[in-house]
Amino acid sequence: MPGEPNLTIESDPKTDDLVQPFQIDPFALRGRLVRLGSTVDRILSQHDYPEPVAAILGEAITLAVLLAGALKYDGIFTLQTKSDGPVRLIVADVSTEGAVRGYAQYDRERLDSVATPAGASPSVPDLIGSGYIAFTVDQGEHTERYQGIVELIGATLAECAQHYFRQSEQIQAGIKLSVARSGDDDAWRAGGLMLQRVPPEGGYTVIADDVEDGWRRAMVLMSSATPGELVDPELSPHRLLFRLFHDEGVRVFRTHPIEARCRCSSERIGRILRSFPAEDVEDMRKDEVISVTCEFCNTRYEFAGEDFAPLASA
Ligand SMILES: [Zn+2]
Repeated sequence: MPGEPNLTIESDPKTDDLVQPFQIDPFALRGRLVRLGSTVDRILSQHDYPEPVAAILGEAITLAVLLAGALKYDGIFTLQTKSDGPVRLIVADVSTEGAVRGYAQYDRERLDSVATPAGASPSVPDLIGSGYIAFTVDQGEHTERYQGIVELIGATLAECAQHYFRQSEQIQAGIKLSVARSGDDDAWRAGGLMLQRVPPEGGYTVIADDVEDGWRRAMVLMSSATPGELVDPELSPHRLLFRLFHDEGVRVFRTHPIEARCRCSSERIGRILRSFPAEDVEDMRKDEVISVTCEFCNTRYEFAGEDFAPLASA
C-alpha cells in the first residue's frame, strides 16, 4: 500500500463537489481538478434526459466549472453550445460563489436515430452537430460582457474547448472530462482535469527546452488519467494528482466548493413576465393561471391575475 501523498497544505476532508487548483513546478504549469458528485447528479436528475443527453450535459457542466476556475471574475460564467444536431442547445453556468446549473434542449426523434455504442463517450459531431460554443462572463450591470465564441471543432467537448484556447486565446491548454454513473444508487459523477501553460511573471527560471519538455511530459501524464480515475469516489483528488504528477513536483492549493443551485425565483420570473408584451403573456394563460417552468431546475411557478401575482410555486 502506498502511503498517503504528502502534498497537502491542510487536510481537506471534502473530496467531492469541488475545484482543486494545483501547480507543477518549476514549469509554472497551472491546473485544476474538478470533482462533482451530488452536484452533477442533482442537476441531471432534475430532468428526465435520455442517457446521452445527460452525459453530454454533465460534461458541459464539468467543463464550465474547469474554465470558470481559470478566470478572475465576479459574477456568472456561462458556457453555451448552439448547433444543428439532435442536442441543439446546452447551457451551463457557474457563479463566483460556486453555484452551478445547466440544461439541454434536444430532439428525441433525431436522438433515437443516433447509434451510440454502449460505454462510448458521447460524440460532439453525432450528438451536437455543427455550430458554435460560446463562453460569456457577466459581471452585472455597467460592466463589459466578455464573450468568446468559436466553431465546434473536435470529437469531444474537451477537444472543442482546447481548440477554442488555441484559436482565440493563444493559450496552450489540455482538458480531460469524464462523466459516469456509479455506486449502488447509479448516481451521476463527473471529473475533469485542465492544465494550462502560463508563463510566470519575470520569466522562467529554467531553459526554454526544459519548459517545452516539462509541458509535453505533463500533458502525457494528464492524458494517462483514465475516465474511471477521474470519477472514482474512492480516489481522493490529492491521491489522483499525486498518482499522476508526483515526479513533477505538484503542489495543491485551497479548494473551492461547488454546489447545484439555481437562481430562479417567483420574483425574478414575475419581473420577466411583466417585461413581455401583455398580449403575449395572456396567450400563455390557461385556466386563469400562467405557469412557467424554469428550464434549468424544472421548478414550476404559477401566476394569476393581471399583475402576475405569484401563486405558491407548484
Ligand atoms: Zn430554476
